[in-house]
Amino acid sequence: QGKKEGRGTYRFFQSAMDLELKERAQLESELRAAIEGGQIEPFYQPVVSLPHQDLVGVEVLARWRHPIRGLLTPDQFIAAAEETGMIAELSCRLLRQACLDAREWPSHLRLAVNIAPQQFQDRWLAERILAILTETGFPPNRLEVEITETALVQDLEATRATLTSLQNLGVRIALDDFGTGYSSLYHLRELRFDKLKIDRSYVDSITMSEERAKLVDAIIKLGTSLGLTTTAEGIETAASVEWLSGQGCDYGQGYLFGAPMPKEAIDRILVAPADAQKAMLEARSAA
Ligand code: C2E
Ligand code: MG
Ligand code: MG
Ligand code: MG
Repeated sequence: QGKKEGRGTYRFFQSAMDLELKERAQLESELRAAIEGGQIEPFYQPVVSLPHQDLVGVEVLARWRHPIRGLLTPDQFIAAAEETGMIAELSCRLLRQACLDAREWPSHLRLAVNIAPQQFQDRWLAERILAILTETGFPPNRLEVEITETALVQDLEATRATLTSLQNLGVRIALDDFGTGYSSLYHLRELRFDKLKIDRSYVDSITMSEERAKLVDAIIKLGTSLGLTTTAEGIETAASVEWLSGQGCDYGQGYLFGAPMPKEAIDRILVAPADAQKAMLEARSAA
């Protein structure tokens, strides 16, 4: 009895594993074709200054326009792209497309891109990025590269070298998802960032308890005192904006100002005159 059941269980796991491996292999081959076939496209989320909520830039967020499964978000494919090394090609194409899209936008707007941890181990990363900027005519001082703390627990020296090369080009570096990684303070001490992005999970919680709000306040003060600008991610309510502005947070990003959107939608906002841009963002946050 028991033996039989054991074998059945084994077979069950075996076939579940086979299925998982098969699905993974299929995902990987589809992803490779998708990257080459241009199915990965940049979406853009507005970044605004606080307290006035002027549009200062956009963050590029990858989306996979899958022919059958519809629009896929990064949690459905970025990990696979990272594990297979396809992320390098994906990012290059995404950055190139974003630089081309940005040509019609007002020239003061910044473009922020996410770069995967392992890409900082590539000693030619800065050169690759520069080649794309040169080719598309996008000025390096309008580019921001976002890095998460996971990159910093890999090879810190290699990461430091890459960050320095990028900064020498005029590219700004933001530490993304601050507070969720391992050993945040150590990295702030060891590396020179230009910007701190406070993770959504902290921003979310400010209206929930005074203790949590104090923590966010401390992060803003810490960033400011180190000479970094601070951005709050995932702002969804007017009450949060008011509070964050009051504490001296420099920038905000979140559904309140606009969710990530395709080029056509962001064009409607960005190609409009400045006061119309503001009106559109305000209409969004009122909705
Ligand atoms: P991230 O860089 O921290 O980007 C912010 C994420 O928060 C985005 O999720 C965005 O849609 C979401 N978000 C923004 N405002 C709000 C809000 O008010 N409420 C809520 N609930 N969510 C908000 P998304 O687009 O799903 O991207 C997730 C993560 O995937 C990004 O986090 C980034 O780490 C990664 N990612 C996206 N595109 C790329 C890429 O091209 N390359 C790499 N390496 N990673 C990418
Ligand atoms: Mg980011
Ligand atoms: Mg983030
Ligand atoms: Mg994140």
